[in-house]
Amino acid sequence: MIYCKKCLTTDLRPNALFYDQICIACQFSDVEASETFNVKLNILKDKIKKTKQNKKSDYDCIIGVSGGKDSSRQAHWVRDRLGLRPLLVCGAYPPRQMSQVGANNLSNLIKMGFDLIVATPAPQSASHLSLESFIKFGNIAKSTEMSLFSTVPRLAIELGINTIFWGENPALQVGDSAVEGNDPFDGNSLRNLNTLTDGGNSWIHDCLAKKHLQDHYIYPEKLEFDKKHINIFYLGPAWDDWSNDNNALYAALQGLELRPGEESITGDISNASMLDEQFIHINFMLKYYKYGFGLATDFINQRIRAQIISRDEGIKIVEQFDGVCSEEIIKDYCMYVGITSIDFWNIANKWTNKKLFNIQKGKRPIKKFKVGTDYAC
Ligand SMILES: [Zn+2]
Repeated sequence: MIYCKKCLTTDLRPNALFYDQICIACQFSDVEASETFNVKLNILKDKIKKTKQNKKSDYDCIIGVSGGKDSSRQAHWVRDRLGLRPLLVCGAYPPRQMSQVGANNLSNLIKMGFDLIVATPAPQSASHLSLESFIKFGNIAKSTEMSLFSTVPRLAIELGINTIFWGENPALQVGDSAVEGNDPFDGNSLRNLNTLTDGGNSWIHDCLAKKHLQDHYIYPEKLEFDKKHINIFYLGPAWDDWSNDNNALYAALQGLELRPGEESITGDISNASMLDEQFIHINFMLKYYKYGFGLATDFINQRIRAQIISRDEGIKIVEQFDGVCSEEIIKDYCMYVGITSIDFWNIANKWTNKKLFNIQKGKRPIKKFKVGTDYAC
């Protein structure tokens, strides 16, 4: 496992790309610093102008939202700075999974004067597919993420709205090279996201067919995008101050409810992400056991690139919080999908990287490596 010389990204991250031992996210942040805000804003405006618009629609664009910290900032910015009429679309969690904080935050968006469509998968299929994707891929949120990313373009196609905005560009923010587009705003390669491509679609087709369900979990084909002139743009690169910390601050001022003091339960050092449900923290923990990095690494990398903290300070925080997820959250998930906690750990252990962790039957794995130091595996 090789670490980026500037941040704490490793070559075990899916689709990681390094030049001279520096990850693409760090490379981009150096380029970004040299471009001014107005130049970037004008590039985005030009790109939007060139996009074919459906004049008959009541909306100019769709913004994919979760009700979390990025959503209100995106919605205000598109309406007030770009002067567009946005429709917000949320691929939400079923009621049994969604937190009260998440529901309150969606209500807050409507109160601020935005139109919002919420699409929710049926709870039975959602829990069934979560367990299937845990067993098959070691990822409890794969089906949920597929539904979340697919709902937005499916609705854009159905409603005839050509422009879609997402927030962060995963290539630039976390270094996923598979989704790199022609420029920092180009989101049309989102279909290559690891969670949408890994394992293909046939497993989910099979599960859904058995239950006679519609497959709104499947991302629309490129042909459908082209036929309807659908274009996806990332907003994150247009902002000099786009970061988890800044977005949380902005959203809190707009009425977003946070989860203060819960970092030792959720592992989320920002207390401001994934507010709409808590099973996602299990997934960050599983990612940590699979690849050796978790949610804290992603946050700390941004802070290192923004020169808020040093790499050495970051290592101490990542050592403490990567992989944290309370037994309580795991117990709730086991009840949700109908397994015991011993079953849970036996499945999780199957997906754990044995070179990075020692396995204990029916229990949590134990870490063998040191964060920030290259490790032979
Ligand atoms: Zn880096």
